[in-house]
Amino acid sequence: MARAGSTNSGRWGDATVRAGERGASHLTISENYAGSNVRIPLFIWRGKKKGPKVLVTAAVHGDEINGTGAIRQLIMTPSFELLAGTLILVPVVNLLGFERHSRYLPDRRDLNRCFPGTSEGSLASRFAKAFFDNIVRRCDYAIDLHTAAVRRTNFPNVRADMTGTKLAAFARAFGAELIVNNEGTKGSLRQSACAAGCTTLTLEAGEVWKVEPAVVEFALRGIHNCLAHLEMIDGEPSQPAYLIETDATKWVRAKHGGFLQFHVAPGTIVEQDEPIATNTSLTGEEQNVIVAPREGVVLGMTTLPSVAPGDPVCHLAFPRHGTLRKIERVVREMADDSLHQRLREDLARNMLVTDVAEEAEDA
Ligand SMILES: [Zn+2]
Repeated sequence: MARAGSTNSGRWGDATVRAGERGASHLTISENYAGSNVRIPLFIWRGKKKGPKVLVTAAVHGDEINGTGAIRQLIMTPSFELLAGTLILVPVVNLLGFERHSRYLPDRRDLNRCFPGTSEGSLASRFAKAFFDNIVRRCDYAIDLHTAAVRRTNFPNVRADMTGTKLAAFARAFGAELIVNNEGTKGSLRQSACAAGCTTLTLEAGEVWKVEPAVVEFALRGIHNCLAHLEMIDGEPSQPAYLIETDATKWVRAKHGGFLQFHVAPGTIVEQDEPIATNTSLTGEEQNVIVAPREGVVLGMTTLPSVAPGDPVCHLAFPRHGTLRKIERVVREMADDSLHQRLREDLARNMLVTDVAEEAEDA
């Protein structure tokens, strides 16, 4: 299939960027209630040599702006010279959601369920199609930067369909310690882009409405690693200290309503039956202790201690049996100022994490 725009490979949105140059552009994607054009900012960076086209997107969910901060930093303080190929940076895809500090488009639809979009459908579906046809279909690879949804945080993890060798190699090159293997939700940018031949991974890291320093550093290191893997920049991708690839994850949910006292933080390794949180009344009486159903790693968790029955508390990833011991040893030996340890510390900074109370152990 001929790719749109193949006649003028330097034209992205309303600007043309020549080989060896970089510059800003805009893509007209929709219209607002005042009838003005909605134009999303693009930044195009081309190496002198031919190479792959790599797309980096953020804020497909308009409130998930860690990636927006990472892309801004990449544009303002580039840490490498792009030798080959094209880098297409989109700091905010869902501009209409972003302007409302919201995950959703104004029609209350989730853009990340509407790809590849249709020209006759809803606002979200048309928006998705304009972005998909003009940008995504022209790219060979994509990195889609997300955070956890509101009131949750994620320890940085890559999501990718690891059944294909090209995507598996790209996902491993990113250098995350945790890779969750799945196809992605139908209609997501990742799933649709992969189906259209654009090799795409997602990073899930941190919280909404924040630009978190360690998460930005993690995202930038990953982008850097992927470009090195594709030989678009000099150097070798850095390797993670350990690697867990899993397709087994589970949200542990609250049994009762109450107020949680956390015993784990994002990135914590837990044994089977280890306490995750103690659920108490507002006056501190214990209702129950929530425990890990299997040994695993805390992939994400709620940041809001008040819960109702069924509310998600902690998202656990379950690696292959027996691998956690080894990983625990590796983590213990990591320097305190390593990015991994700083991430763990930063993501837990605003959470009260305590040891489980003596009496709770008998409950
Ligand atoms: Zn998201």
